[in-house]
Parts: sequence; C-alpha cells; structure tokens
Amino acid sequence: MSNTNERICIIGGGPAGLSSAMYLEKKGYSNYVIYEKLNKVGGKCWSPKLKVTHNGKTEEKSFETGAIMGAITYHAVSEMEEFGGYYHKGPDFKPGEPNMRREFRKLDGAIDDWTNPKVDFSFKKLFGLIKLKKQMKKLNELMQTKYVGYDCYGHIGVAKGEYYGISKGVDGYCGATAENSFPNYIKGTNPNLKDLALPFAEFCKLNGVEEVMRIWIAPFTSFGYGFFDEIPAALVMKYLDVTTALEFVKLRLWTWQDGTQEIYKRVNDKLKHPAILETEVVKVERPEGKVLVTIRSKDGKETTEEFDKLIVTTPLDWFAKYADATKEEAELFAKIVHERYCDYIATFEEGKSPNISGYLVENMVPERLGHAMVYYNRWQCLDRDCPATVYALANHTGSPDKDFDDVMKTMDEDMKRVGFPIKEKHFAQEVYYCPHVSAQDYADGWYDKLEALQGTKNTFYAGEIISFGDMEDTCAASKDIVGRFF
Ligand SMILES: Cc1cc2nc3c(=O)[nH]c(=O)nc-3n(C[C@H](O)[C@H](O)[C@H](O)COP(=O)(O)OP(=O)(O)OC[C@H]3O[C@@H](n4cnc5c(N)ncnc54)[C@H](O)[C@@H]3O)c2cc1C
Repeated sequence: MSNTNERICIIGGGPAGLSSAMYLEKKGYSNYVIYEKLNKVGGKCWSPKLKVTHNGKTEEKSFETGAIMGAITYHAVSEMEEFGGYYHKGPDFKPGEPNMRREFRKLDGAIDDWTNPKVDFSFKKLFGLIKLKKQMKKLNELMQTKYVGYDCYGHIGVAKGEYYGISKGVDGYCGATAENSFPNYIKGTNPNLKDLALPFAEFCKLNGVEEVMRIWIAPFTSFGYGFFDEIPAALVMKYLDVTTALEFVKLRLWTWQDGTQEIYKRVNDKLKHPAILETEVVKVERPEGKVLVTIRSKDGKETTEEFDKLIVTTPLDWFAKYADATKEEAELFAKIVHERYCDYIATFEEGKSPNISGYLVENMVPERLGHAMVYYNRWQCLDRDCPATVYALANHTGSPDKDFDDVMKTMDEDMKRVGFPIKEKHFAQEVYYCPHVSAQDYADGWYDKLEALQGTKNTFYAGEIISFGDMEDTCAASKDIVGRFF
C-alpha cells in the first residue's frame, strides 16, 4: 500500500525532474520538493529569446540551445503538454511558425541531393538508393519479428534476452491511477535482443542492413548521440525506432513556438510545488530509513532537509561524488560515459545566414571529430538574416578528446567554407550529453544492475541514463519509475 504522504526530494528541474513531480501528483503524492541549481527550469531545454532584424524590422524570437524537436512517438511529452496546456506545432507548419525543413550539403557548400536519383544521375546512385530502400524494409521487418520487444522504454533485461517496459507503440494517456494501473507495459523473453548490446555498426552488419546507417546517421550522430562504431544498438533503436526514424525522413516533426523550454516552464507553473530555483544539492546522506539532503542556496547558505525518498534525475556519476554512495553505486556509476556535445547560436554576415537547416554528413565520422555536423535555421520568415545554431561533437571512444576552444574555431571555419560566415556568437556551450555505457558494459548487464539498485537506500534513479538522452525517453522514464515504485 503506497503512502502518499511520504516526503520526496527530486534533484533537478529538467524534463525528468518536472515529469517525476507531474506523475507523482497524478498518483496522489503532493509532499515533494524539486531542487534546481540554475535560475530556470527545463535543463537542456533552454530557449533564449534574441532580437533579430530583417527588412528593417526588429523583433524578438525564440531560439534553441538544446532540445528542438519531437515526433508522433513522443507520448510522455504529450502528457506534459496536456498538463501544462502548451502544445507543439507541426508536423504541418504554417507561415510564422518555426519549421523543421532541412537540406544536405557537401563541405564545399554544394547541395548534396543524395536522396533524389534524378539529380546527378548515375546507375551507382540509383542502385545505392534501391539497396537502401530494401534494407530499410528488411530492418523494419526484423525489428518486428527477430527483435520483437525492442520497442519499449529502458533497457531492463535486454542483455539477458528479455524485455520489460512501457511500450513505445501504444498511444494515449499514461493511465496512472490510484491503483497504479499503467496498462501499456510489455514483458517477454527474446534471446535475439542480446544483439542490441553490439555497437550499432556491428548490429547492422550482422543483419545485412549496413545501408540504413545513411538514414540513421543524421538524426543520431549529428544530434550529438555519438558514433555508430561505439554506441550500443539498443540506444539507437530505442530512440530512433523505425516509426520515429521514418518521421524524421518524412519531416513529420514537432517543434514549439516559444521553444521546448516553454513546455517545462508551463508544467512547473501548474505543479503544486514548483521547482525551488538556484538551490543546488551538494550532499546526500542516507542513514537507515531516512534521506538527508544538504542544499546550497544562491547566497551560499547550506541547510539540511530530511526526506523519506529521493529521486535523482541528474547525472549519476556526479551523484556518486556528492552522495554517500555505496561501493556498488560508486562502481556502477563510474562506468557511465557521456557525449561532449558543443553548440553555439550565431548571427552571420548580413544576408549570409543559411535560410534552411543543413546536415554536413561528411563531418559525421570520427575522423572529422570536432567539425560542424549540423546547423539549425528556425525561422523561415527571417530568410537569410536568421541566426542559426551550429553543433559538433568533441569526443569519440578511441580518439583523443577535442579542446572546446578548438572545436569552436573549427566550427567557424566549417561554416565559412560552406558559405555562411559568422559575424557574432550569442552563446556557446559544451553539454554533458547522452549518458550511457559501453557496448561491453551493456552486454555485461549494466542496466540490470542499475535496476536492482532502484529503491535501495530509499533512492530511485531517473533521467537520461534510464532509457535515452531525449525529452521523450527521460519523461517516460519518470513515468516508469513513479508508476512502479510509488
Ligand atoms: C543541443 C541539444 C539538442 C537536443 N535536441 C533534442 C531534441 O531535438 N529532441 C529531444 O527530445 N531531446 C533533445 N535533446 C535532449 C534533451 O534536452 C535532454 O534529453 C533532456 O533535457 C534531459 O532531461 P533531464 O531532466 O534528464 O536532464 P537535464 O535536462 O540535463 O536537466 C537536469 C537538471 O538538473 C539540474 N541539476 C544538476 N545537478 C544538480 C544539483 N546537484 N542540484 C540541483 N539541480 C541540479 C540542472 O541544472 C538541470 O536543470 C537535446 C539536448 C541538447 C543539449
């Protein structure tokens, strides 16, 4: 019997922390506190407003430094939208709305129309595209047959050839009732799922579908999630399941007029206890039956609060450093690796901004680490005066890490070379991104070890590590944790 009066501490006011609070409320819990160290909610969904001038008119527009898009498969995010009363635009965009159009460019700036067989026709190109189409079909069939069960959030059991989680294929309301009814869980055994521990490139080779990487690479590697020779296939296929991947290809995507941060601001405003800002959790002690959380407020003052339970939505490798981590926690969390994703918002020389987003596929290989892989044009109405966000990765397993300042310089050079010389940067950052474990640790059952720790010392782990580093997977992970443990 759950005790809805329990005092619960949530660390982090990003999508995972706010969705944890929302799902707790849906289950009748209201005695919770969210601590957020920054002066804003939304975490990596951060959408600053910039003044932009076009045709002599200056106006303020929202831009994205972090999350941009969603798709029809974003069920948990839909529940956040519903709760906050704030909804996406798309997939059909009207004039005046941010858009998701894009093109591919070669490094000399020429358009790379690689998906259209009529442009630069050659039999090699035509046969390549036919082969790609066939392999897409094959992968779709394999995922529904050989890999049945892959399509749920999280990684519980996968390394053992089992699956258990909320189905990604089921639409609708989360179903969190007082009876803890979460109707859309799926569970089963499928030894083939063990293949998903392989790096994605090996998984594709094993199944004779290597061509599909040409489709998956843009919304995966350029979005900062790593390279296919290192990332376990489970992460790739759980985020970019076949349905979501096709939504990307067909550009049936969602985006938000005032930016993704607004989803979380609105949710925060509707919560019974909005996040307490500028309050960093600096210490956690968990003596028998209690959780003692020490917080540092803006003025540097430290106080300790007592709770019954703790939900950690922030990086677990950081948590291990400020909490009284057990040997098991410390060893497990030390295996977490993350991507170093870098981006900036830039204004370009007058009339020289890209007027559509672009992928630089040649830069999406480890040999081109630190080079610009994608740029995002948000406002079609600003034409070639629209600032753009530019993105690059700074790390890859087996390659020396790139220095942040060097990456910034390389990105500037790339943009100039492609034809978009940068005039001014409004903002630049390197982000702790997409925490995960290596293919070997995945195969060794890392995620099952984490699952076995859920609830010990009254501590529950949520956030990006549970399933994947996107808005949907993090919010769905909160739904799962709250659904099963509260
Ligand atoms: C450039 C970029 C592009 C992206 N594009 C997309 C996209 O298009 N679609 C998509 O779905 N996702 C996208 N994402 C990913 C998405 O933003 C993240 O997966 C999501 O924000 C993760 O939510 P979270 O709450 O787990 O973590 P975070 O968003 O990182 O939030 C964690 C919060 O915890 C706070 N915190 C940390 N430590 C402490 C502490 N000790 N005490 C108190 N507070 C603390 C942080 O300040 C932060 O606010 C993108 C991210 C980036 C950076």
